[in-house]
Amino acid sequence: MSMNTPLIDPFARAITYLRVSVTDRCDFRCVYCMSENMQFLPKKELLTLEELDRMCSTFVDLGVKKLRITGGEPLVRRDIMTFFQSMSRHLDSGALKELTLTTNGSQLARFAEPLYAAGVRRVNVSLDTLNEEKFARVTRWGRLAQVLKGIDAALAAGLKVKINAVALKDFNEDELITMTEWCASRDIALTWIEVMPMGDLGNEDRVGQYWSLKDLRRQLAERYTLTELSERTGGPARYVRLEETGQKIGFITPLTHNFCESCNRVRLTCTGELYLCLGQEDMADLRAALRNNPKDNAPLKHAIHDAIGLKPKGHDFDYSRQKADGQVTRHMSHTGG
Ligand code: SAM
Ligand code: SF4
Repeated sequence: MSMNTPLIDPFARAITYLRVSVTDRCDFRCVYCMSENMQFLPKKELLTLEELDRMCSTFVDLGVKKLRITGGEPLVRRDIMTFFQSMSRHLDSGALKELTLTTNGSQLARFAEPLYAAGVRRVNVSLDTLNEEKFARVTRWGRLAQVLKGIDAALAAGLKVKINAVALKDFNEDELITMTEWCASRDIALTWIEVMPMGDLGNEDRVGQYWSLKDLRRQLAERYTLTELSERTGGPARYVRLEETGQKIGFITPLTHNFCESCNRVRLTCTGELYLCLGQEDMADLRAALRNNPKDNAPLKHAIHDAIGLKPKGHDFDYSRQKADGQVTRHMSHTGG
């Protein structure tokens, strides 16, 4: 095996998409994601920005074409812009095709322009409601106006924005049409995510109830003409086009396994663990290979290849459902969703 043999897993899937969590911290405390008094990791556990750069660059050497930066909230990591600026060299060289991020939008007013300058062209912004009071309730610490300002800044900077909304029963069901129209008027695609129960977050009797995307879709079809799009991204999203508005609507059901055959992605946590499948616990610690060999990337490349060799074929539906009924042991803020 040569140094830069591309990453192909045991089921002949090319791994070309890396999602990277750059911090476990966040300025919000969304009820389905974090508890109000979260314990965060000691700083020394986190990869430094230099280590993140080396790690991501090594994945790019191994054929990764798309990097999605996430968290926690990626834009609250100190000096994160230097990381984006540094990653842009891989876009310039053509090795990397896309550098993108998922954000809660709170810092976008400040960072939209520098992100564009670093080569970012698309951002996913998480937004579950357009109602100020409900927004404060679901994010606990967030302020809607700040996020809307961030979205405006992103659009003004030339970034393509996609909204991700978590579908929550008795919470944003009544905003299905309002949010659709709001996005349509701004040429923004909207993707709905089915909520995954995350265990003890101290919000059992508040927001966070499961709203099935099947039902959401049925409600959407009462108002619009839905055309199924064949487009797949190698992930758990399916898309339709609304004929009346022309906009794209996505549905993400994280625990279904109907996309596993085309799965092209792995997830790196902020401590350097590589998770190989969203629905399973398989992971490999890459931090030691990185830290113990500051001048030599070969051991890290070996460790990455070994890890990809462990990627499971898929996650079993019944197994996942069982988990969904109970709880998923990892928080989304750990693996970045
Ligand atoms: N802080 C950024 C944000 O909110 O976009 C990035 C990290 S956040 C963990 C990534 C995505 O995971 C967000 O869209 C969020 O809504 C989603 N998420 C968090 N907890 C979830 C859960 N229990 N079920 C489904 N989606 C969840
Ligand atoms: Fe923070 Fe994103 Fe989790 Fe909300 S979903 S608490 S914004 S990491």
